[in-house]
Amino acid sequence: MKYEAVIGLEIHSELKTATKIFCGCATTFGAEQNTHTCPVCLGLPGVLPTVNRRVVEFAIKAGLATNCKINKYSKFDRKNYYYPDLPKNWQTSQYDLPIAYEGHVEIDVDGAKKIVRLTRIHMEEDAGKLVHSGTTIKDSSSSNVDYNRTGVPLIEIVSEPDMHSAAEARAYMEKIKSILEYIDVSNCRMEEGNLRADINVSLRPIGSDKLGTRTEMKNINSFKALEDAINYEIERQAEVLDDGGTIIQETRTWNPERGITQSMRSKEDAHDYRYMPEPDLPPIVTTDEEIEAFRKSLPELPDARRQRLIKNFGLSEYDAGIITSSRAMAEYFDAVVNFGADAKTAANWIMGDLSKNLNADGLTIENSPVDAKRLAEMIQLIAKGTISGKIAKTVFAEMWKSSDSPAQIVKAKGLVQITDSSAIEGVIDEVIAKNPKAVEEYRGGKKKAVGALVGQVMKLTRGKANPQLVNQLLAKKLDGEL
Ligand code: ADP
Ligand code: ZN
Ligand code: MG
Repeated sequence: MKYEAVIGLEIHSELKTATKIFCGCATTFGAEQNTHTCPVCLGLPGVLPTVNRRVVEFAIKAGLATNCKINKYSKFDRKNYYYPDLPKNWQTSQYDLPIAYEGHVEIDVDGAKKIVRLTRIHMEEDAGKLVHSGTTIKDSSSSNVDYNRTGVPLIEIVSEPDMHSAAEARAYMEKIKSILEYIDVSNCRMEEGNLRADINVSLRPIGSDKLGTRTEMKNINSFKALEDAINYEIERQAEVLDDGGTIIQETRTWNPERGITQSMRSKEDAHDYRYMPEPDLPPIVTTDEEIEAFRKSLPELPDARRQRLIKNFGLSEYDAGIITSSRAMAEYFDAVVNFGADAKTAANWIMGDLSKNLNADGLTIENSPVDAKRLAEMIQLIAKGTISGKIAKTVFAEMWKSSDSPAQIVKAKGLVQITDSSAIEGVIDEVIAKNPKAVEEYRGGKKKAVGALVGQVMKLTRGKANPQLVNQLLAKKLDGEL
C-alpha cells in the first residue's frame, strides 16, 4: 500500500463511583428504567449540581498513571447539542482546561515498543439511553428514554494520532484498560459499554507528515470491533483515494454483522458545540501537595510490574506481559509464588490450563475454582517428583471440579508417579520385547526411534512413570548398559 494509516483514539471510561458526577443518584448498572434519577440529573429547572469529589480524585489518578500533567486550575464547560437522551441540552464536560494533559503510555506490538502520546484527559457526564420498542430505531413504534445513565461520571482519554495500524490501536486500548483496572477507577467492562472508544482514521501518502482527512467511528466496545473497523476503514479509504476521490470528514458507524462502516452524518467541529464555561460549578483547584499524595497512593502499574517479573523471576517479556495485563492475574501469580511455587511453572499453568478453563466456563480469575494456594500445592508436587507434569493435568482437571487438595486427589486416584526403577524396568523389558522394529532402528543409529518406545512405556503405566527415569533406563537398556 502506498499510504500510511494514522489513527487517534478517544476512549470513554465510566468511573466506578457509587454515585453520579453531579448528584447523589446511584450509578448501578442494569437497574429498572428511570429509577436512579433526581431533579439534578434530569436537568429540571432551578437545580444546582455539585461535583463528586471522588470523580476528581479518579480523574487525577488516571492522569498521573498515564504520565500526564495535572491542571491545578481546571474547570467544567457546557457542550451544547440536542438529543433526547440529553435532558439539559448540553453535556457538562471540559473544554480548554481539562484535568490532565500531555501524557504518554508505552505499547508493545510483536516485541516492538513505542510511545503513544495522550493529548488530554477530561471529566464529563454520560448521557441517557434510548430504549427502542423494536430492535433498531427504524423498526420501532416508540422509544423510551432511560435516564439512569445520565450523569454517570466519565473520563475521556484523547490520544494524539500516533498509531499506524489496528494492532497498535488495540495494544494502546489494552494498555489504557489495564492501567485503569490497576488504579481501580473503572470496571472496564467493555460489554456493558463502560469502556468504549471513538476511533479516528485517516490515510496519507507514505513519507508525508501532513494529516489526511479523517473519519470517525463512535462507541466501539470490543477489541475485535476496534481492529475490524480500523482495517475496514483503511481499505475503504485507500480505494477511494486510488480512484482519485477525496475522503469526507464524517462520522461513520461500524456494522459488525456486515463487517463494514457506514456513513452516518457529516462530522461536527468544536465550534458547532458553542462551548461555554459552566456557570453553576466552581473551578477545580488542586495543590501540589494533593497531587503528590495521589501520586503516592498509586499502586504498582502494569509496566513496572512486568519489569519486576522479568527481573525477579526470569519470565520472558511476553509471558510477563500477559501475566501483568490484568491486575487480578498478576496478583494471582504473586500469590502462587508466595505459596512456594516455582515462578516459571506458575506462569505456564496460569497462562495455560487455568486460563483455558476460566474461558471455557466464562469465569474470571477472581472466582477461579482453583485458588492460588491449591495451584501452588500442585506445582510443588511436580517439583518434588510426586507427580509428572503430564499427570498434573489430570490432577488440575480434578481440582477444577472438587475442593480437595491436590495431594488428596493424587492419593485417591492413585496418581503418584512411579519412580521405582525396578518397576519401570519391568515395563521397559516388556516394551522392548514387543517392539523389535523400533529397537532395531534405534540400534541402527536412528536415535529418534526411542520416542515411540518411551510413549509405549508411558502408556502402559498410564502416564505415571517418571519420564526422565524412563528415558534414562530405556537408553541404558537399548545400549546394553543395563
Ligand atoms: P473531536 O473528534 O471531538 O472533534 P479532536 O479534533 O481533538 O476531537 O480529535 C479527536 C481524535 O482524533 C484524537 O484522538 C486525534 O488524535 C484524532 N485525530 C485528529 N486528526 C486526525 C487525523 N487526521 N487522522 C487520524 N486521527 C486524527
Ligand atoms: Zn440524580
Ligand atoms: Mg471525536
